[in-house]
Amino acid sequence: MDIKIINAHVVTATDEFKGEIGIQKGKITEIGRKVLGKAGTVIDAKGKYVFPGAIDIHTHLDMPFMGETSSDDFETGTIAAAYGGTTAIVDFAIQAKGQRLRDAFETWMNKAKDKAVIDYGFHVAICDLNEDVLAEIPEMVKEGVMSFKCFLAYKGALMIDDGALFRILQKAHASGALVMIHAENGDIIDILVSDMIKNGKTEPKYHALSRPPEAEGEATGRGIAVAQMAGAPIYIVHLTCREALEKVKASRDAGFPTYAETCPQYLLLSYKNYEEPDFNGAKYVMSPPLRSKEDQAALWKALQMGDLQVVSTDHCPFNFKGQKELGRDDFSKIPNGAPGIENRVSLIFSEGVLKKRITLHRFVDIVSTTPAKLFGMFPEKGTVAVGSDADLVIFDPRKPFTISVKSNHQNVDYTPYEGMQGKGVVETVISGGRVIIDHGKLLAKPGTGRYIRRKPFKGSYL
Ligand SMILES: [Zn+2]
Repeated sequence: MDIKIINAHVVTATDEFKGEIGIQKGKITEIGRKVLGKAGTVIDAKGKYVFPGAIDIHTHLDMPFMGETSSDDFETGTIAAAYGGTTAIVDFAIQAKGQRLRDAFETWMNKAKDKAVIDYGFHVAICDLNEDVLAEIPEMVKEGVMSFKCFLAYKGALMIDDGALFRILQKAHASGALVMIHAENGDIIDILVSDMIKNGKTEPKYHALSRPPEAEGEATGRGIAVAQMAGAPIYIVHLTCREALEKVKASRDAGFPTYAETCPQYLLLSYKNYEEPDFNGAKYVMSPPLRSKEDQAALWKALQMGDLQVVSTDHCPFNFKGQKELGRDDFSKIPNGAPGIENRVSLIFSEGVLKKRITLHRFVDIVSTTPAKLFGMFPEKGTVAVGSDADLVIFDPRKPFTISVKSNHQNVDYTPYEGMQGKGVVETVISGGRVIIDHGKLLAKPGTGRYIRRKPFKGSYL
């Protein structure tokens, strides 16, 4: 076999055992107390956890937005992901006005092709619907795109109306695809933003004040109601607040297949960050905005209780210098987004598991297993089993870390988690049977990541 991991303390979403793992031709071929036979490489994981590789289903690499382009491309972004224990991402191919979905998909495939060091898939964001575009949905599913995104925010740019959302939900569900929504009320936010700017309220904190939690709660409830009318499941991206959470809980309690994710920034940072001096608040300008401490607590609880199913990053980096700065005199010109692809696993382990907000198994579930299940990658990814892809993370749960832009690998000049400390560090990362990170050393070659042809949505898992 190619690789043998010995003294492995394997932790999955459901199981925990000690033993050995054999890897051949990119797959896990054997698991046992002892795995016989010689291996090209033997990795001793003594004292470490072995997790299934983490999966980040919400990233924006090399994305044009608000006149700028996110600063990580598929090479720097996937390298940073790998350093953080993420072995697969699902990024967004965004349809431009008048564009065919296939053209958007191919544009993003080309961005990733020779650059990615880990496996990648794409959701397609539908921003301009007509009959031809609708007919492309099943075609895209055949290409392995089993999820589509709709924006209820960003009026005049990405936003679509409820009728379009309804038709996309119907068609996607009939085609075996899942629809994800960015749920904020774009009409009202549009008015609040222009009123604030008119009244001279131009600092970064007004970004948050122009996007109140009620606007998210309303759009979340509306999106869910539209999905119920269409008879389709729905997935809410980057849920941040109690107003939206209540809508998700009520829908799930009523038996509708409703899923939602949150992100580390909404669990760990808050509105207070916008009040940092010297325009520093711009670093946290993202949509939806950071909320309150009470919201953080509610989100953690929802993760443990199962009301929220996934933590992804919404990694969308823009440099402070030259990009965020464009909004010095007008918060509405600050490119929306923040980096995080590299720090998710350690942060959620340290803040979640070690602080006893979630269990160890729940941690694996929300960063790897459920993303794989909901987005058509299970059981090839998201677990440690014979026949699964050899995407594995060897993780030192006792090693301390301090997050800093100086030690991060993301191609961006800041991190919103600067100085944050905790325990739990990624030591070795195996992707498709290749050791790509070894004790901090990058062994991956650009272009070795493979496109993930994702399977149709399998219905309600959770
Ligand atoms: Zn996003």
